[in-house]
Amino acid sequence: MKIGIVGLGLIGGSLALDWRSLGHTVLGISRRAETCERAIALGVVDQASPDLALMAEAAVVVLCTPLGAMQATVEALLPHLQPDTILTDVGSVKQPIVAAIAPRWPHFVGGHPMAGTAESGLDAAQRHLFVDRPYVLTPIDSTLPTDLETVAELVRSLQARLYQCPPAAHDRAVALISHLPVMVSAGLIAACLAEPDAAVLQLAQQLASSGFADTSRVGGGNPELGTMMAKYNQMALLHGLHQYRDRLDQLIHYVETQNWPALEALLLQTHQARPQFLP
Ligand code: NAP
Repeated sequence: MKIGIVGLGLIGGSLALDWRSLGHTVLGISRRAETCERAIALGVVDQASPDLALMAEAAVVVLCTPLGAMQATVEALLPHLQPDTILTDVGSVKQPIVAAIAPRWPHFVGGHPMAGTAESGLDAAQRHLFVDRPYVLTPIDSTLPTDLETVAELVRSLQARLYQCPPAAHDRAVALISHLPVMVSAGLIAACLAEPDAAVLQLAQQLASSGFADTSRVGGGNPELGTMMAKYNQMALLHGLHQYRDRLDQLIHYVETQNWPALEALLLQTHQARPQFLP
C-alpha cells in the first residue's frame, strides 16, 4: 500500500519507519526541505517533499503535524487527494479535530497512538515505538466501516493495542491519564526550581534518581505539545486539574494535621489502584 505521512517528526517518522519495514511504500511531507532530505537519507520514507501534491499517489494519508497546524494542513491537502483516499490523524485531542475534518472529508477516521518520548522532531523517530501501546480510533456515525477497518489493520500491523471510542470520551479519558500528568509533572519540576537555597537546589539535582526521572519525564517533554493539549482539551483538562487540586489540598491537610493514619490509608488506596492503569 502507498501510505502518505504529513509531518515527519517523532510520531510521523516512527510510523513511517515501521510501515516501511513491513513492505509499504511511504511518501512523506514536511514543511522544511532539510527534513524531507534527511528522511530519505535515513531511510524513514521512500520519497519526501514539502509539496502536498505528492499525496495524490497515497491510498491512506496520516496527518502527523502539531495539533495547531492540522486544520490549515487539511485545507491545503484535500485538493490533492484522490476521491477515495482514506485520511486519518494522530492528534492527541480528538473532538475538535474530528469536528473540523469529518465534514470536509467523508473518508476520515480520527486516531491517537498513546506512545511518545520526551524528544521531538525527525531525529527522535524510532522503530517499534507503538508495540504493545494503546492506539485509539474514534469513529463517528458517518465513518465508513471499510475505512475504519483499513486504518485498524494498519494499526494492528504496528503490534499496538487497538481501542475504539467516541471522540468526546477519548478527550475526557486522556485528560486524566495523559494531559493532567503533563501539567502535574511540569508543576513538580517548577516547584523544585522554586527552591530559594541554591546549594539545596544543586544537591537535589545531584541526588535525583529513578523516582524523579519517572515523575518528571512528561513534564520535561515537548513544550509545544503540552500547550496544544491544554488549548484543544481545555475543559476536560481543567476538570482534571481541579480534581487534582482537591486531592492535593487533602494531602496538605493530612500532613499539616499530622494525620498519619489518614495519609497511609490514602497511600494504600493509590498503591492498590495503580496496577489498574497499567497493563
Ligand atoms: P514533532 O516531533 O514536533 O513533529 C511534528 C513534525 O511536523 C515536525 O518535525 C515538523 O517538521 C512537521 N510540521 C510542522 N508543521 C508542519 C506543517 N504545517 N506541515 C507539514 N509538516 C509540519 O511532533 P510529534 O510529537 O511527532 O507530534 C505530532 C502529532 O502527534 C501531534 O498532533 C501530537 O498531538 C501527536 N502525538 C504526539 C505524541 C507525543 O508524545 N509526542 C503522542 C501521540 C500523538 P518540519 O519542521 O520539517 O516541518
